[in-house]
Amino acid sequence: MKRYSLAVDSLKDEEKAEWHRVGQRMLKICQAASDKGVGVLIDAEETWIQDPVDVLTILMMEQFNRERAIVYNTVQLYRHDRLAFLHDSLEAAGKRNFILGAKLVRGAYMEKERKRAGELGYPSPIQPDKEATDRDYNAGVALCIEHIDRIALILASHNEYSNLLATQLLRQKSLPSDHLHIHFSQLYGMSDHITFNLAKAGFSVSKYLPFGPIGDVVPYLMRRAQENSSVAGQTGRELGLIRKELKRRKG
Ligand SMILES: Cc1cc2nc3c(=O)[nH]c(=O)nc-3n(C[C@H](O)[C@H](O)[C@H](O)COP(=O)(O)OP(=O)(O)OC[C@H]3O[C@@H](n4cnc5c(N)ncnc54)[C@H](O)[C@@H]3O)c2cc1C
Repeated sequence: MKRYSLAVDSLKDEEKAEWHRVGQRMLKICQAASDKGVGVLIDAEETWIQDPVDVLTILMMEQFNRERAIVYNTVQLYRHDRLAFLHDSLEAAGKRNFILGAKLVRGAYMEKERKRAGELGYPSPIQPDKEATDRDYNAGVALCIEHIDRIALILASHNEYSNLLATQLLRQKSLPSDHLHIHFSQLYGMSDHITFNLAKAGFSVSKYLPFGPIGDVVPYLMRRAQENSSVAGQTGRELGLIRKELKRRKG
């Protein structure tokens, strides 16, 4: 994990103090979660703020994920370097003897990332197309299930194929649906047909419910709305399913 370590020594004194305070706050949160036996899922956001988040999250996993997964990092497979990062994280977990907590997402800041890279003239960190994102996402799912004894996976996606793939791989390995190291999650208000079918088949599944100050939640919901318009195919299909169900209930 050398590539992802931070040059803390090069920070100014004030920044070092700030870094220390962030670490202490993370420690408090993870300790409280560990005491209660609940998970802490650290979201991933823009690439330019992600390295310190990765470093801190790995440190927390090293401390709290010895016996079971409490802390989870988020891996955005729309980044072309993240499948390698997942491999590296697994290697670090093996060497340092902790369970890797991995929430796999495709990624929510594609337009912003590409725009910034274009404006500042550096290569875009985003995959060239959706197919490349899908290929790495599904490879990430397969890698996690192959090493499920050492990785706790949260499959966070509305993609029907990726969810189905995970269930098929689990079946192929004769693993139970309620295996402690696999959990599925969709955003509240989206893809209920996936959530409900997974729950019905006995998988551990949840809805992600955003809450917080209106200034933070509204931009979050706006991003989801934009995302929905960029996946018009699947959203249209979902609306079709809702209409069909309404018709069925009306008799
Ligand atoms: C429970 C949960 C937690 C989440 N947490 C986070 C988080 O911490 N951080 C975060 O960034 N996002 C997070 N997301 C959002 C997630 O990253 C995706 O934006 C969203 O779920 C849509 O992807 P999908 O796999 O559901 O479906 P799909 O519809 O299959 O995929 C859409 C995604 O594919 C990618 N894509 C689309 N077009 C292209 C293209 N031309 N080139 C390359 N890639 C493309 C984009 O990532 C797009 O969002 C979370 C989602 C869920 C369900």
